[in-house]
Amino acid sequence: MVPEDHRSGFVAIVGRPNVGKSTLLNRLLGQKIAIVSPKPQTTRNRITGIRTLPRTQVVYVDTPGLHQPRGKLGEFMAATISQALEEVDGVVFVAEAPESRIALDESALAALREVKAPVLLALNKIDLLPDKRLLLPRLEAWAARYPFRELIPISASTGEGVSRLEAAILALLPAGPAFYPPDQLTDQPETFFVAETVREKIFLLTRQEIPYAAAVRVEELAERESGQLYIRAVIFVEQPSQKAIVIGEGGAMLKRIGQAARRELEAFFGVRVYLELWVQVRRHWRRNEAALRELGYRLTS
Ligand code: GDP
Ligand code: MG
Repeated sequence: MVPEDHRSGFVAIVGRPNVGKSTLLNRLLGQKIAIVSPKPQTTRNRITGIRTLPRTQVVYVDTPGLHQPRGKLGEFMAATISQALEEVDGVVFVAEAPESRIALDESALAALREVKAPVLLALNKIDLLPDKRLLLPRLEAWAARYPFRELIPISASTGEGVSRLEAAILALLPAGPAFYPPDQLTDQPETFFVAETVREKIFLLTRQEIPYAAAVRVEELAERESGQLYIRAVIFVEQPSQKAIVIGEGGAMLKRIGQAARRELEAFFGVRVYLELWVQVRRHWRRNEAALRELGYRLTS
């Protein structure tokens, strides 16, 4: 039974890498489903987060940051974004309030010009502004650049302004029934969430090229009779030297990655988790289309 006044739709969250899109998505959903790290381009896949309210269902699409594609993975990311933008009822364009880096966002803005759906500006990280009076001129500068439906200052970290943003988002949705059952939070399988959690810890704990050279595949996810969740995952890297770094002295780095991931997975699944991590070299997986597909970087249609 769908009440007559029910609304539903898809909303893409876009913007330069590192502006806080994943943080905002997690905040809007009230739960962490997208991985967050201080390094740009953490998010590689299109991730949906589903928010079900009494008379509305909104499906959020988190995208890799808008940027110039490089290599096969870059092409995949760019294609994911154009695809995300074609199908949505609204777009939230996220930018940073603290620095007037509008010039840097120019290519992202160019991508928006193709979008037919209304676009909201979420000017994020206002908690970092030393003086709130700085906000008005920044908002005016953005308004001069693009015909945003609304411009809303927020802090995805503290939650300030986010309920105003959500109200503006809900106002964009057309009438229609829910797409997903009310208790479903994402359309990604559990194994994807597990792989992303491990990948996030690699991003947070390793340096230089390692995070970008690593991919994670969950080989097994099984509930044991004791109630414990047994997970075996493989971390793929591109070179033996990277494998040595991910494993660390006497296995120390791999242990840190595993412990941090396990803690978070236990909180998420609400059960004890036994996480077994392996590291394998898969040369040039980022340049190899078959390897990309196998690791889950695949376009959905
Ligand atoms: P994405 O690449 O756009 O998805 O950005 P992330 O959500 O991964 O965030 C990038 C970095 O910015 C992380 O270190 C976040 O903790 C931080 N961040 C996100 N939103 C805010 C905010 O409102 N205030 C502050 N101070 N930091 C934020
Ligand atoms: Mg992200």
